[in-house]
Amino acid sequence: VIDAGQPEHSVVTTCAYCGVGCSFKADMKGSEVIRMVPYKDGQANHGHSCVKGRFAFGYATHEDRITQPMIRDSIDQPWQEVSWDEAISFAAERMRAIQAEHGRESIGGITSSRCTNEETYLVQKLIRAAFGNNNTDTCARVCHSPTGYGLKTTLGESAGTQTFDSVMHADLVMVIGANPTDAHPVFGSLLKRRLREGAKLIVVDPRRIDLVKSPHVETQHHLKLRPGSNVAFVNAMAHVIVTEGLEDSAFIAERCEEQAYQAWRTFISEPQHAPEQTEAITGIPADELRSAARLYAQAGNAAIYYGLGVTEHSQGSSMVMGIANLALATGNIGREGVGVNPLRGQNNVQGSCDMGSFPHELPGYQHVADDAVRSRFEARWNVELDNEPGLRIPNMFDAALDGTFRGLYCQGEDIAQSDPNTSHVEAALKALDCLIVQDIFLNETAKFAHVFLPGSSFLEKDGTFTNAERRINRVRKVMPPLAGKADWEVTMLLSNALGYPMDYQDPSEIMDEIAALTPTFTGVSYDRLEELGSIQWPCNESAPDGTPTMHLESFPIGKAHFAITEYVATEERSSRRFPLLLTTGRILSQYNVGAQTRRTDNQVWHDEDVLELHPHDAEERGVNEGDWLGVASRAGETVMRARISDRMQPGVVYTTFHHPGSGANVVTTDNSDWATNCPEYKVTAVQVVKVNQP
Ligand code: SF4
Repeated sequence: VIDAGQPEHSVVTTCAYCGVGCSFKADMKGSEVIRMVPYKDGQANHGHSCVKGRFAFGYATHEDRITQPMIRDSIDQPWQEVSWDEAISFAAERMRAIQAEHGRESIGGITSSRCTNEETYLVQKLIRAAFGNNNTDTCARVCHSPTGYGLKTTLGESAGTQTFDSVMHADLVMVIGANPTDAHPVFGSLLKRRLREGAKLIVVDPRRIDLVKSPHVETQHHLKLRPGSNVAFVNAMAHVIVTEGLEDSAFIAERCEEQAYQAWRTFISEPQHAPEQTEAITGIPADELRSAARLYAQAGNAAIYYGLGVTEHSQGSSMVMGIANLALATGNIGREGVGVNPLRGQNNVQGSCDMGSFPHELPGYQHVADDAVRSRFEARWNVELDNEPGLRIPNMFDAALDGTFRGLYCQGEDIAQSDPNTSHVEAALKALDCLIVQDIFLNETAKFAHVFLPGSSFLEKDGTFTNAERRINRVRKVMPPLAGKADWEVTMLLSNALGYPMDYQDPSEIMDEIAALTPTFTGVSYDRLEELGSIQWPCNESAPDGTPTMHLESFPIGKAHFAITEYVATEERSSRRFPLLLTTGRILSQYNVGAQTRRTDNQVWHDEDVLELHPHDAEERGVNEGDWLGVASRAGETVMRARISDRMQPGVVYTTFHHPGSGANVVTTDNSDWATNCPEYKVTAVQVVKVNQP
């Protein structure tokens, strides 16, 4: 440990990694960060942090940072460094030319869950007002879009229901498809504290996550389901609750819409949902599932926390609704210690969805087809808005290959590495006439770009992030943007060059505009954030200090809506040719595609993605620990090293996606959620064979 000495001053800001949204004090000497100290008054973390957050400042000044705008005519040419003016004019001219030749709908943009609310809001405004269409989407498309759809349909709001601290009132916690000790470590520690105090635990995961074997934590059930069988599982849980009379009838009568409930009750009572019938699909023994359902229904306060193991499936939205059905049927909603809680992967997944990044929704989840909503935005933005939903990210790729979509502005998102079926994505990106990438590093996507606009790291940003508990936290600038311009200024310059004027002097003005147009944000301002420390939306006249627990007395849709969740098997099945099912996840020291953590001291803990496989599958293939393996799917093939682990169940293999070299997404397929097109990262049929070292 190097003693960096006493700081000259400190700035309180928010971690830019996961959806916990920990507050940190950046200790400074001059303009240099000497350490990041978890902030004791941080309302999401109360002075705690994980190894990712503590070392995050390392990537901000990494030598790979690009600080000069660059352009090139075609992607086989070398980059040419230019001034900001030249880069912005070049980008605007290309986008204008594309629209002149191919029409208004031929361009679009992608916002990022790594960027602030203010930056994200401005990008979707640029697309709607300056591009003149709704071809805006967010990288939340590929993680939690089913959460937005599923929770809005059932509970009326696209967000989790609780604070993190609420878990301290839970008598039972069911963790489904999430690995909080690795992916949301500060919440993971809080959860373990509650479990050590005696709360019961059900883990639903194909793989034995660390929580299952944590010291002093007793796991009542680890339901090792088969990848792709989530909805069969959740329906079986509900079937037991309904047929064994474990429902909370008073809650249902008072808080839930009668007709939808009766229809759901008839559906879920059907014998095919009985655990004895679903056992062959889920792999979960019927008696264990029955026991888990009884435990959940009779626990007192039962809380569900879930992650991408729920959403990244062809039935992601159905599963989210199935989880909401469980909570409604047992009255586990509308007070502390209960609820339905998505653990968001990125720092601002919640915010990027709230800010209107989706092609069908303006900020605050207000539909673009709603005339009254559109007129309010039109009056404020002084522009006529398109009333047709635009293209989602996968539709943009398809349209690029058709030749109808030719220009893309991509801020803070490495789609070439993080989206599934890499060869399809790369072909689409290559087909574009203009790809503008705004990022801090020359990422994989930038290989296909014509314009590179240097972005700013979280330490150079002023604005807000919204964490998984709807908490709006301030992000404060610790150092000036290395490239000389903040990301929101760059978006504004591009808009002005395209002929739609924007004139903000400070991100606080952008937040004031968001508050004026978004009913759940009307009470939010930088002054109020200073005063309260942070605010959980909704924050408006009915909740001037924000809303820690949602749905206390009513739902935004009045009464909650049970949803029918028919189980439909994924098209991605194992076969003789591809006999194993691959699922993916994260590890503690790395964050997503690793663009940031691979450039910090975290790198020492983990330097490659490996393939975990069960000893039985290893033996069958003559594989020893550390052997090189070829992993092939219907979409592509890659090579990685073997880790033999009894965490896995036979027939299921697992890897992470933190390194571009291993390319886990080379093998993931185009399958996606029926409602939102969220990719099915969690189920890929693969063959694994021993190969020579590449
Ligand atoms: Fe907190 Fe998540 Fe950052 Fe870790 S990565 S410090 S848990 S916000």
